[in-house]
Amino acid sequence: MSVDLLNLTPEAARAALAEWLTQRGEPTYRARQVVPRLWQRPVARWADATDLPAPLRAALDEAFPLTGLTLRTHQVSTDGTQKFLWALDDGEAIESVLIPEGKRRTLCISSQAGCALGCVFCATGRMGFRRNLSAREIAGQVRELVLRDPALKPTNIVFMGMGEPLLNWDAVDATLTILNRAEGLGIGARHITLSTVGILPNLVKFAKRPEQFRLAVSLHAPSPALRRELMPIEKKYALPQLMDALKQFHRRVTLEYVLIGGKNDSLETADQLAKLAQPLEALVNLLPLHPGGAPDLTPSTRAQMLAFERRLKQRGVEAVLRRSRGLDISAACGQLRVEVEAEEHAHIE
Ligand code: SF4
Repeated sequence: MSVDLLNLTPEAARAALAEWLTQRGEPTYRARQVVPRLWQRPVARWADATDLPAPLRAALDEAFPLTGLTLRTHQVSTDGTQKFLWALDDGEAIESVLIPEGKRRTLCISSQAGCALGCVFCATGRMGFRRNLSAREIAGQVRELVLRDPALKPTNIVFMGMGEPLLNWDAVDATLTILNRAEGLGIGARHITLSTVGILPNLVKFAKRPEQFRLAVSLHAPSPALRRELMPIEKKYALPQLMDALKQFHRRVTLEYVLIGGKNDSLETADQLAKLAQPLEALVNLLPLHPGGAPDLTPSTRAQMLAFERRLKQRGVEAVLRRSRGLDISAACGQLRVEVEAEEHAHIE
């Protein structure tokens, strides 16, 4: 089977190419011309890399065929948020959401098709786990946008789409390198945020990376009992262990907290959350529950969200109540795919 250069870090791709070029008797400087066509100035197929000699392009196509993601659905919200549903080679589907805000364009990417963790407020969790994505499929979500229009290239990346990135560590590890390296997509480490529910062994591996990648923890519950109710991962990696691990992470952490009406939005719960956030000096992102994300749960009222935010601030915690983006285009994680599949089933039945 041929090597897929898009699954390799730029350094590894360059090494694989250099070896192949040497075997063919080509000058090794060609590797410096070929590698940028993977991520920096990507081409959909080698035939488009017209700065390379035609015989070399044909040989590259044979040895290292390039495969992309197929755009299945594209929605644009009235607030400028864009949602992309990509079809993969085996028929699986994943999604990315591009959120423009001033000069910033943040792309929320998926790391798995589906998710095994079953958080009760999450559309992806209800779908179950399908499979891990390869580095080509994760970083490819950025590549496809650049191929369509270089002006769409994201300035920021968040791993907050479908899946738990730390349950797909090897591919995510390579993807972080592809996203960050100048020879890759050249996005600064501080502009790349990995979001996790707290898979502790791989959190340690992430923390060991020397780059200043950012970490967001999907917390949503500040006590073990409530966390067990909302997030089954509590049974495997309990909240006190997670908090201990975060204290060892020597960078500022963001805690993500979806406000669910009558579940986790009382002022007493805010006090519990403040106690966890204070020693970490964490930033708390408060997110309204996306109404379509979980049919049996209701978002907190606006008044309760504001009271919750105020209470955290009174306790000395930096808290920000975020707007829910793309409400009109189903931009909760996993939701577009759920809707498209439901429609397809409706058509079949
Ligand atoms: S919130 Fe994240 S970890 Fe939980 S089920 Fe959804 S995708 Fe998985």
